[in-house]
Amino acid sequence: AAFAPPAERSAVVDLAAVRHNVRRLRGLAAPARLMAVVKADAYGHGAVPVARAVLEAGADALGVAHVGEALELRAAGITAPVLAWLHTVDTDFRAALAQDVEIGVSGWELTPVAEAARALGVTARVHLKIDTGLGRNGATEQQWPRLVAAAAEAEAAGLVRVVGIFTHLAVADDPARPETGEQLARLRAAVDAARAAGLRPALRHAANSPGLLSAAGRERPDEMVLDMVRVGVSLYGLSPFPDRTPEDLDLVPAMTLRTTVNAVKEVPAGQGVSYGLNYVTDRPTTLALVPLGYADGVPRVGTGGPVRINGRTYPEVGRVAMDQIVVDLGAPGLSAPEHGLLGAEAVLFGAGQNPSATEWADAAGTINYEIVTRVSPRVPRLYV
Ligand code: PLP
Repeated sequence: AAFAPPAERSAVVDLAAVRHNVRRLRGLAAPARLMAVVKADAYGHGAVPVARAVLEAGADALGVAHVGEALELRAAGITAPVLAWLHTVDTDFRAALAQDVEIGVSGWELTPVAEAARALGVTARVHLKIDTGLGRNGATEQQWPRLVAAAAEAEAAGLVRVVGIFTHLAVADDPARPETGEQLARLRAAVDAARAAGLRPALRHAANSPGLLSAAGRERPDEMVLDMVRVGVSLYGLSPFPDRTPEDLDLVPAMTLRTTVNAVKEVPAGQGVSYGLNYVTDRPTTLALVPLGYADGVPRVGTGGPVRINGRTYPEVGRVAMDQIVVDLGAPGLSAPEHGLLGAEAVLFGAGQNPSATEWADAAGTINYEIVTRVSPRVPRLYV
């Protein structure tokens, strides 16, 4: 039997929360389709279990960055449509097409995809990507007519079928900014040009989580939602907006990062804590050691991040180490057994009363997306 790591530390993934979030997001997107973005191991939550859960809850398709991520889903027996959109020149498109993976094409990919389709005797399903302003992958507006012409030719030859046209938004998390409307207008023009060249893409898609969650506030929500949305972070119950909580959005955080307190100690005032002795106690206090560190994905710069122990939230103090963090419980005398701290559950983030991944992101100067995605393979995922 394969070695199963013990779960003394775990990232507990609540698949019922994921299913709730899918239903909530589907309600916002309908009648448009919902593509669940499960790249990067479903933002750290586990690609295969999450993919099964989202499909069960009504997601129509899955989205990933790499072909390898799509093949992992296929190897697990998942047959739903999967789109992969970020390739390297040595990507094996034959393996992808043999497994019915849809390919996002920004430009150069069209040639190797068409060649792979010819070799296999299949028609590749592709989504053409236009860069409407993010400045990353996707054809530029200048490149678009050539890409569309080449795609029309490959379609006429039976090698590809352009099933979608898409773009990715740059500032959808700030709905007041005008660039999102400009990006959507450029996408409309790109679709018009593709139609003029004879393409008939059924799926126009642009919205990510913040795009979908802010669509209702737009003059024309349908111009954001289009035929399909591609949602990632909100599936996992995290808010993409700095000023809105998951509860505000009727989302439930799915991941709880937890372990148990493995030492409790009394220290005097003036005790330095952790490498560099950057934190020095200013009074006698009790410290709790919590065995999760940067090798588990806790950001080393996350000093001050919250930890919930026995129904109270305390700050992490001193440098985050490779394997552990230290929590200042704020008062002396707490190592006595009646306080029940040794072995008590310690939660870095989760749902409900627990601290949030967003609070850890704030402590570390990053975003909640990174906090969950970086939880390392050393931490077993437990599904409930
Ligand atoms: N679409 C593309 C192309 C992406 O790269 C991503 C993730 O970054 C998403 C959609 C999902 O974005 P979000 O997690 O903000 O919903």
